[in-house]
Amino acid sequence: MEYKTSGGVTFAYSPLIDVPHGFSTRLGGVSEAAHTSALNLAFDKGDGRETVLKNLALFAAAVGVDEKSIISAPQIHSATVRRVSIADAGRGYFKECDFACDGYITTERGVTLGVKTADCVPILMCAKRGGEGRAVCALHAGWRGTSARIVEAALGELFALGFAPSDIYAAIGPSIGSCCYEVGEDFYAAFDAELREKFVIPTENGKYRADLRAANLALFEAAGVPRQNVDVSEDCTYCRGDLYYSHRRQNGTRGSMLSVIAL
Ligand SMILES: [Zn+2]
Repeated sequence: MEYKTSGGVTFAYSPLIDVPHGFSTRLGGVSEAAHTSALNLAFDKGDGRETVLKNLALFAAAVGVDEKSIISAPQIHSATVRRVSIADAGRGYFKECDFACDGYITTERGVTLGVKTADCVPILMCAKRGGEGRAVCALHAGWRGTSARIVEAALGELFALGFAPSDIYAAIGPSIGSCCYEVGEDFYAAFDAELREKFVIPTENGKYRADLRAANLALFEAAGVPRQNVDVSEDCTYCRGDLYYSHRRQNGTRGSMLSVIAL
């Protein structure tokens, strides 16, 4: 994963993905409150609507997508991946959105897929067969979505569209690292039984440390996506308060990052 700064906005991106995409940081926007400064991209965090839309325009311009094309529906920590079209462009920011989901797939130009996170794992994918037949996908994988295997659900949809595992290129974005993600017995009990054996590890104090990034990477590999096709950010949103909002570090009073991808 690499960083780029354009028009004052810094975002992360993967050289593996050759369509417009980016994972926002908190750098470059106009939010003034301490907890949202400065590139908050969600309406419900205390910033005015105009401030969020200004941030959205700045981020979209930096990444190279049309801000009016972005869809970002309410997220519900599910494994629901929705096929969207140009008719969905703008839903969540400029138009009503009458559905909720945690992932999107499209084969159309003119709609930009957007997921909001602040510790949860954002995942962006591009699938391609030769020079054509492309699709893009964006996922919000929190612990519930990771455990519910939203990556598997999304890959299943892409395979149904005719893509092979080796056609898929993915970037697992900045999220809370196992360094900072201590969880309890209730989490362990609720987590996918197979994934927790490797990725929810007991600590000496009777708790656990969860590695959501590694769990999602394992789901890609289990589905046959070559390891070299998956880029994984090393950034921990909790550790890097200079770069990211963190739900856990900020006790829920925080801004939101947005991760976007478009054909
Ligand atoms: Zn950390």
